[in-house]
Parts: sequence; structure tokens; C-alpha cells
Amino acid sequence: MTITLARIKRKAAALGFNLCGVTPATPSPTLAAYLRWIDQGMQGEMRYLARPDRVRRRMDLREIMPGAKTLIVVGLDYYARYANEATLNDPARGRIAAYAWGVDYHQVLALRLEALAEWLADASRAKPAHRVYVDTGAILERSHGQQAGLGFIGKNTMLIHPRRGGSFFIGEIITTLEFDAYDEPHRETMCGTCARCLAACPTDAFPKPYVLDSRRCISYHTIENRGWIDRELRAGFGNWIFGCDICLDACPFQRFAEETDEVAFLPFDLDRVAPLLTDILMSNEPSFRALFRRSPVARAGRELIVRNACVAAGNWRGEVAIPHLIQLLFDESALVRGHAAWALWRTMGLDSSKLLTDLHRREADERVRGEVEALLA
Ligand code: SF4
Repeated sequence: MTITLARIKRKAAALGFNLCGVTPATPSPTLAAYLRWIDQGMQGEMRYLARPDRVRRRMDLREIMPGAKTLIVVGLDYYARYANEATLNDPARGRIAAYAWGVDYHQVLALRLEALAEWLADASRAKPAHRVYVDTGAILERSHGQQAGLGFIGKNTMLIHPRRGGSFFIGEIITTLEFDAYDEPHRETMCGTCARCLAACPTDAFPKPYVLDSRRCISYHTIENRGWIDRELRAGFGNWIFGCDICLDACPFQRFAEETDEVAFLPFDLDRVAPLLTDILMSNEPSFRALFRRSPVARAGRELIVRNACVAAGNWRGEVAIPHLIQLLFDESALVRGHAAWALWRTMGLDSSKLLTDLHRREADERVRGEVEALLA
């Protein structure tokens, strides 16, 4: 039986996907721009992106799966209205990017993509080989999404659907199945003269339209960067502790985003959206795991999220955080001690001098000592 694109889309919709497109498994048209981006080091500490095997896979999907002929790209909405902006921006709370408000999306998408691939194998009777990808593989998924007709790439580098906005997860099936016809690529961009996202970024992470320098991106630093956050950037982080939605929320196409009907992506309490910073600052491993059970935030781990909460606390300057920050000067993580020192300096000013001098005296870690020296200088 022939499988038409319409049948695949009907099945994808029945599985709950909001978008689906089918495109040949050819190299992404943005590959050259990606290679330039890597050459300029804009991937920051995500060195795995520059690994030759990763780059080879991005250049040729057959490196991932021999005989790959087709990419089926799906989108699943995660947009939810849970709290108002005043609550989300409350500096006493640590803000979490909307995609991470629900349960970890990797599993939700991967299971459904496997179900779609299984149906495809049955319906085609061709026993095609397939691989499923959700945000983990060496695929330029936004670009392939544009090629599959799911939307355009905005100046903020996001995949944006003109009638849904950009709040959707992307997943792919690479298959050896070949089709007679494919979806038309979406228009490359619909941004026109708009540049709201670029202007909105508080850390100037866009050196030019369509180029994101991860080294200045709040989302990169709060999730991917497992080291020290540049002092110069920290004030721009506001209260973000995991990801960032600023350049997406600034986009006028976001007004079309509709609330997801995926219960898994709806937050069930404010702690999953904007937890109190003090709760994070005082967390230990068990309480951290309990706070973010089944959330994508849990994968970042306590050390990273407490480090981020210290940065947010330094921007908040709330006196109630002071005892917790002082406690964190004794944390086993040097990363946490160093960022807690910065937050104390921002909150207490010169009154923190004695605490920081004491920390410097007992501190063995060079980075923490350097942080304190910079603050006291
Ligand atoms: Fe494009 Fe404007 Fe949206 Fe940025 S905010 S992605 S420039 S439409």
C-alpha cells in the first residue's frame, strides 16, 4: 500500500503531534553557516558540537544511518499559561524556561516517534530502517524543520510557525523509506524588518540576525555551561535559572501560540515554573531531586542550578537570601562558593568584605580565590 504524506500526517496528528512534515534526507541548507559558527567558536563549551564525527553526521545523514532517504519532522506544542508575568519576573523567584515546566519531553516525544515509525513500517510493508531523534542527535533540526515546511527560521534562530509561534518541541525520524513527493520547504524567513528579539536580548547574544553566540546566551550558560559564568554577563541574567524565553517571547508570532493540550507539559505547581530562590539556595541533593522530580531541570543537577540561583540572588539583592548565601560559602562545590561570593557582594556591598576575606583566607580553589580578589578589588 502506498503511503501518502497526508496519511503520515493524519497518523502523526492521531499520535498527538501538532505539526508534521516530510523532507528528503539531504544536507541542511544552513550547513555552511553552521560550520562558520563552529569555526568562530560560538558553540562555547559545547565542544562536542565541533567533534569531527558530529560534523560529518550533520554533513551527511547517511553517516547516522546508512541508506537514509527521508526525514519526518514533527512538532509538539508545549506552550502553557500558568503564571502572570509579575510572578514569573518576581526577583525572589528563579525563572525556568517554559519548555521545561512539565515532565521531561525527551521521553514523551521519543515514545510517540517510535510509534509513528512502527506504524510506518507496518503500513509500508517495506521494513524500512529508522532512527528517532529528539534534541540529542547530530541533526540541524530547525533547518530540517524549515525544509519539511514546519515554519521559518527567525532572526533569533528559532523555528517559528507563522500561525503557532515557536513554542513547540521538534523531533525527527530518519528512515530508509523513499517517497515520490515531499513537502515544500517553508519560506526561509518571515521576519522582514522586525528585530524585536535581537533588541530584547539582555546579554547581546546576537552578533547579527540569524546568528546566536552561545557564549553570551542565558540559555546556554544556565544549562550547558558547567563552569564559571562571566561576571560581565551575570547582571543581564535577571532571575533566569534554567533556560530563557526572552527572544521567543519578544516575537510577534508568539501571539498565535495556543495552550498545549499535552497534560505532561502543563506545570502542576509554581515550583516547576518559578521556584523561590531561597528554596534552591538551601537545597541539598535529596531536596533538589524532590523539587525537580521528572523535570528536565533535574538533569542539570543541583550544583548547576544552585550556581544559577546564586546569580539570580545577586540580581535580586534580597536580604532574606543572605543567610543561605553565607551557608553556600562552605558548599563542597567551588563553583557554588564562587558564585555565592558574588551574590553576597551584590547584596551586601562593602558589608560582605569580612565574609569574603575569611573565604579567601581558607579557600584552596584558585578560581574562588580569583573571584573574591576581583570582588574585593
Ligand atoms: Fe523574526 Fe521579529 Fe520574531 Fe525576531 S522577533 S524572530 S525578528 S519576527
